[in-house]
Amino acid sequence: MAQTSTIATLMAADSVREKRSLAIMALNGLYDEMDAAGVLRHAVAEVLPGDIAIVSSFGADSAVLLHLVAEVDRNLPVYFLETGKHFAETLDYVETLKRQLGLKNVRALTPDPKDVARFDPDGTLWETDPDSCCHIRKTEPLDAAVKGFGGWVTGRKRYQTKERGVLPHFELTSDDRIKINPLAYFSDQDIADYKAKHGLPEHPLYDKGYKSIGCAPCTSIVADGEDPRAGRWRGLNKKECGIHFDFNGAIAKPMVQADLTLFKAGAFIADPFRAYAEGDDLGSVRYTHIPLAVFRANRDVVLANPHPNGLLVAPGDRVEDVAADLARFSSIAVAFPGFTDGRGYSSARLLVERYGYGGELRAVGDVLADQIPLMRRCGITAFVVKHEPTRAALRAGTLATVDIFYQPVGKTEVPLGTRPYLRRATETV
Ligand code: SF4
Repeated sequence: MAQTSTIATLMAADSVREKRSLAIMALNGLYDEMDAAGVLRHAVAEVLPGDIAIVSSFGADSAVLLHLVAEVDRNLPVYFLETGKHFAETLDYVETLKRQLGLKNVRALTPDPKDVARFDPDGTLWETDPDSCCHIRKTEPLDAAVKGFGGWVTGRKRYQTKERGVLPHFELTSDDRIKINPLAYFSDQDIADYKAKHGLPEHPLYDKGYKSIGCAPCTSIVADGEDPRAGRWRGLNKKECGIHFDFNGAIAKPMVQADLTLFKAGAFIADPFRAYAEGDDLGSVRYTHIPLAVFRANRDVVLANPHPNGLLVAPGDRVEDVAADLARFSSIAVAFPGFTDGRGYSSARLLVERYGYGGELRAVGDVLADQIPLMRRCGITAFVVKHEPTRAALRAGTLATVDIFYQPVGKTEVPLGTRPYLRRATETV
């Protein structure tokens, strides 16, 4: 009866998108009770015959989906996102599973070298802007590959995260493709049982405590009782790499619940960094701006911390005291506590001009529209902005520019005319 009414509604739907949404509802109704093998078999044979790809991370649980694929058809195209950032153990595991399961059509997707050269020339984008890193290394290559298919299969499961708790077997993506999740209803125990039953090899890092495995820089060990994906992008609001869409069809928001407060490279983005809090473990914190005084008091511990971190320079801090260690920080935040306190400008100039700091240099605190052109002159390239009129001006690109100065900075400003105390910049700031 329910199916009959769904089909009747389907016939009455006006737009193609509406029809597809209803078709997805019907598929979920039809296959809701079916086991994972049945869902995959029907998807391959009936829903999208000859028009389906598999996407696998070759991570901790991937052997289960790939075993199902091998049972259905060893020639199905299996895409592996070869981001260039994987553990060597993962690359070995790709070969192990290909061999053991007899998969004949595993294809590696690599990022566009032009994108890497332009946006991540030194391979450290993951430290300062992981969403963009995932975008060029995962989303873009996958988008290009799946364009040729009506749908694709993932290994995602409901139990993995709160956000995946409502995952259905079939989803309509925002570009009108069908995404199939045969393992949606599998539990942790189901995965373990399936691996044991079929003698599937574990990922070499699984027994070392890695319960969900992605790129090496963004994956850490998970403690007993933690969410299995807690080790991915640990310390960040980021939960997904951006290649997955939610079940309503919208793209999953990678930096969940994050405010877009950081203005950088012409846009407001989610800020991967957080402020240091009293009591933080300096040996393990990630993406944290550590106050300069705290760093000096705990230098050895911070230098031994393997994770990306930043430095906070407050008015009165002497950057000279940490000059030799600046390269350790992927971001330096210069504090501007009030409009009349200009010491941050001097700190920024010292960092850039005298000590050659080349990482992200950001202004934090009371950042207002009138200050930003001056901050840019001093080498600051990112701004944490809460003041709404300033945010609006940045979004609209209507900030005033200042091109006559009493004091030149850097190497781009030259004297103006015959009045030596006035200087003009050679380019707009
Ligand atoms: S998981 Fe990390 S290294 Fe891999 S693409 Fe995303 S940000 Fe880059």
